[in-house]
Amino acid sequence: MRYIEPHAHMVSRTTDDYERLSLAGCIALSEPAFWAGFDRSSAAGFRDYFDQITVFEPVRAAKYHIAHYSWLCINPKEAEDMGLAREVMSLIPERLKRPNVLGIGEIGLNKNSRNELAILEAHIELAAQYNQLILVHTPHLEDKLKGTRLTLDALDAHPEIRPERVMIDHVEEHTIQLVLDRGYWAGMTLYPDSKCSVPRAVDMLEEYGQHRIWMDSACDWGHSNPLAVPRAILELKRRKHSQAFIDQIVFQNPKTFMEQSGKFVI
Ligand SMILES: [Zn+2]
Repeated sequence: MRYIEPHAHMVSRTTDDYERLSLAGCIALSEPAFWAGFDRSSAAGFRDYFDQITVFEPVRAAKYHIAHYSWLCINPKEAEDMGLAREVMSLIPERLKRPNVLGIGEIGLNKNSRNELAILEAHIELAAQYNQLILVHTPHLEDKLKGTRLTLDALDAHPEIRPERVMIDHVEEHTIQLVLDRGYWAGMTLYPDSKCSVPRAVDMLEEYGQHRIWMDSACDWGHSNPLAVPRAILELKRRKHSQAFIDQIVFQNPKTFMEQSGKFVI
């Protein structure tokens, strides 16, 4: 079954993973800029990383007939150093023109600190200025509800940001309603041992419906599974959901959201 993986950190994965994604039916994926598992020591590290996800990874993905798209930002974890954050942000505008760049992301909060919030607001302003889509990372565990509220408030406060052009990723049972009620898109990240398991995600789909929702694996350098979305498809089939319902969640919804960029073509 065809599907889109809308959140994958392929710089951390092998070509075998690209092959497995392709064999499982993945025809397109998007790669948000994020923390690499270690703090980079200078803006030059980000310049190379931006080249990697806008130039190198699309070529690697194409060998497996997967269209590769990306998002640019400095992630909240490294944004604590505001001088570095501003320097990295200055690299972004000219790179937004690259053909596979869909917008600004994954921005957001990690520990909900004052510096993180200031850089989040600066990214929101950048997205508004260049009319970009936004992909948001929400914090983990005890910081999630507060961080989600702070993020939505910052987005709502900007007069030019339209909720239907913003994806709030890593929602869980206690944040999904809040996100959908305020008009934003909600992403469910399927992780082996944190965020959201496959059965929990399918429970949420059954409760909240299939509108403005996607699922992703957010596979990265840590314990994660690039084939998490196909596993969710299997669970949906086991629970007797229709082909049309499944197709909307794993294909039509990410396509609809990302097509708003004007660049996403499959
Ligand atoms: Zn991510």
